[in-house]
Amino acid sequence: MTVIDGRAISASIRNEIKAEVAKMKERGPVPGLAVIIVGDDPASKVYVRNKGRACEEAGIYSEIIELPEKTEQGELLGIIDKLNARAGINGILVQLPLPRHIDEKAVTARILPEKDVDSFCDENVGKVAVGAPRFLPCTPAGVMELLHRSGACIEGCECVVIGRSNIVGKPMAMMLLKENGTVTVCHSKTKNLIEHTRRADILVSAIGKPKFITGEMIKPGAVVIDVGINRTPDGKICGDVDFDSAAKVASMITPVPGGVGPMTITMLLKNTITAAKLQNDTNV
Ligand code: NDP
Repeated sequence: MTVIDGRAISASIRNEIKAEVAKMKERGPVPGLAVIIVGDDPASKVYVRNKGRACEEAGIYSEIIELPEKTEQGELLGIIDKLNARAGINGILVQLPLPRHIDEKAVTARILPEKDVDSFCDENVGKVAVGAPRFLPCTPAGVMELLHRSGACIEGCECVVIGRSNIVGKPMAMMLLKENGTVTVCHSKTKNLIEHTRRADILVSAIGKPKFITGEMIKPGAVVIDVGINRTPDGKICGDVDFDSAAKVASMITPVPGGVGPMTITMLLKNTITAAKLQNDTNV
């Protein structure tokens, strides 16, 4: 059984990114990312800080725009418009969730599709769905990297994704399908979930329920990818998968923390580079 080391894989991709940014710098402007955060949510603040630090380490220019909780939607849209127009900013993301008085959909839709490095807008979601992505949504893209770099077989294999959210489950299914997996998507209304999970050669869980997937739900030899980030009652972080029982059955498994988590920001850096290349018209 192999524990897939998301931290090590992420570090090696970040080194590749750093080298690529250094090369881009010789020929033209460095890629730039703007991250907007509204309000004081502590978890969001940590995510945003980590994104800024990751950019800095990679040599990517970053701007963090911190706005007060009471910011009006119109003001936020005006800020996005200005960032859309700035040549040095290639990627824009708005940290979610937003305060209740702001319409998330209207805000994310305001970002130019060419700068939508989270790949949230309808145009970019559509491009992923037709198999011609501009940017890959960061978390499922991170999962694909983990699978590729661990040598997991996707083509022709049974891939079961649990969760159908727009940011994880659905794009995950599209990406596995593009690589010729035989994909099943399960959700809260799925009957006999265990019948599906036990069939999976690759099982991806993105539910948000601590230790929900146990060893008996897993096919012997399966690759188990745990996207979940949950807190146990004693405040510890854990995944959707009960690691100890699952690790006895799986051939490869991602831990939480240290599996999918570190890959998400890495994929954001990758998308920022792709955005810069597309906008500066260099080879992608
Ligand atoms: P959502 O809450 O948007 O979606 C959860 C999905 O799980 C839904 O489709 C829901 O079904 C399904 N579900 C809930 N309960 C069950 C059940 N009992 N059986 C089967 N399916 C079920 O969550 P996200 O997709 O945003 O996130 C999922 C998890 O991944 C969370 O723990 C989140 O913190 C984590 N996450 C981790 C990231 C990372 O970087 N590692 C990034 C993003 C998320 P239905 O549609 O029917 O309600």
